[in-house]
Amino acid sequence: MSDCIFCKIVNNEIPSKKVYEDDKVLAFYDISPEAPVHIVVIPKEHIQSANELDDNNVYIVSHIFMVIKKIAKELGIAEKGYRVVNNCGEDGGQSVHHLHFHVLGGRSFKWPPG
Ligand code: IMP
Repeated sequence: MSDCIFCKIVNNEIPSKKVYEDDKVLAFYDISPEAPVHIVVIPKEHIQSANELDDNNVYIVSHIFMVIKKIAKELGIAEKGYRVVNNCGEDGGQSVHHLHFHVLGGRSFKWPPG
């Protein structure tokens, strides 16, 4: 989508600090980190939110979780643990309308979130 920030990152129209890339998925450092490690993992395909997952595209979620497992190990947060967050829609606090998973680590987190 032409006006989507994350599509622009996929297309290298906006710079990002990438930690993983393949033909389907991109992972990069969040520009406004909420933890010592804060990565955003996205499908390259524009999927607006978790609400737009369907039988044809849901495979990307399992692939993304395998990518998360790999980058968590590489970034040294796998052993102590980390949090994976998907914000969906207005009440979910989604600000970028391209499906993404936050990977947060390097500190402990409280539950429930605010
Ligand atoms: P959301 O609030 O769950 O939609 O998360 C969107 C995330 O994207 C926020 O944590 C932002 O800091 C992050 N973000 C927005 N623009 C950029 C960018 O250009 N590079 C990296 N991260 C970004």
